Amino acid sequence: MKAWRASLLRFDDDGRAVFDTDGLLVTGPDAAGRRVVIAVGDHDALVARFPGVPVTHLPGRILAPGFLDLHIHYPQTDVIGSPAEGLLPWLEHYTFPHEARFSEATYATDVATFFLDELARNGVTTALTFATSHPTSVNALFTEARQRGLRLITGKVLQDRHSPDGVRDQTEQSLIDTEALIKQWHGVDRLGYAITPRFAPSCSEAQLTGAGELAARYPDVWIQSHVSENLDEVRWARELFPASRSYLAVYDDHGLMRERAVYAHCIHFDDDDRALMRDTGTAAAVSPTSNLFLGSGFFDYAGAERVGFRFGLASDVGGGTSFSPFHTMLAAYTAGREGQTKAGLSLSPQHLWWQHTAGAAQALGLGGVVGNLQPGHEADFIVLNPAATPLLARRTAQAQSLDELLFAMIVLGDDRLVEKTIISG
Ligand SMILES: [Zn+2]
Repeated sequence: MKAWRASLLRFDDDGRAVFDTDGLLVTGPDAAGRRVVIAVGDHDALVARFPGVPVTHLPGRILAPGFLDLHIHYPQTDVIGSPAEGLLPWLEHYTFPHEARFSEATYATDVATFFLDELARNGVTTALTFATSHPTSVNALFTEARQRGLRLITGKVLQDRHSPDGVRDQTEQSLIDTEALIKQWHGVDRLGYAITPRFAPSCSEAQLTGAGELAARYPDVWIQSHVSENLDEVRWARELFPASRSYLAVYDDHGLMRERAVYAHCIHFDDDDRALMRDTGTAAAVSPTSNLFLGSGFFDYAGAERVGFRFGLASDVGGGTSFSPFHTMLAAYTAGREGQTKAGLSLSPQHLWWQHTAGAAQALGLGGVVGNLQPGHEADFIVLNPAATPLLARRTAQAQSLDELLFAMIVLGDDRLVEKTIISG
């Protein structure tokens, strides 16, 4: 066993933050050999129960659950910060030409390595990420993630139409490749596979149907895609699939909505869409920096809470503008406040943080596994230095409550706040 002494942030079952100013985190192996949280709480109340366990003392630091990123594109690491006139031109001019390079294994491995380093620098310990349409891109990322012992989920992108040469795949072969990758990687160590239609307009009826059949055959595999990001895209999807009630319903009509299905954006929804998310156990990956950057719109938090479907936060790099969960949480606050196109509300600091940790894990079907520092959770966590910059030090020192402390870090924080990221500690 090992132990750390510092301030400690975790969440209770209702999503409320629990904070120990002088806390102790004790980790050790469980029956299956995974490194998990054995005990957590106030240092003085706990320490006598663990005599002889070495304690790393980190005064002035905060231990917190590692962040989960519910939607990101590792092959778009080098597309971040590309200017474009909205989503569809951005795909055409930057993203597709770049993704075409991932047919080459050494190139894919180089980007995968940088990508995983960047996640770690930003305190992200689990990501649900797109690869490209090339199986080599999946193999490169899984190989690198496995070496690092990460809990990471990815999948080969399906896009057999409305896609240029170099990224467009073949319907039948794409489904054969997907099943082979599931068998090769899903459940190996901490890795998980996600069936990954790029978005409905990029997939033929046959490809979506085949993806849905795989989703039924492998019920503990994930599903990831995009939906209702942009009004042009919504109109296009409606034209291509006139038999479906809505853009979202296209996925349901092909067996692609269920537990462990995660759809990025989910902006232009009506209440029937929201109810379909709720009733199928499907989750939304809210991607506010991307939505602001591409001018797509604002996720309707009030609508999501009213109808009651699952959601969590995501960077959506390279449409998103930052790997930092702090930037994403601040953008989520901004999107929540927007009150001209939907009801505006103020998301609490605890709720924002929960959406990127324990809440994101629940949305992903990994509640109780990652995203929290309660006993039994896998010991992926971060060390935060709230005095990492002069302004952070000055502002956090004046915080009068936990909410003030968390919000100061959300507004002022970035990768400098993350002193260390610990996987299976
Ligand atoms: Zn995306």
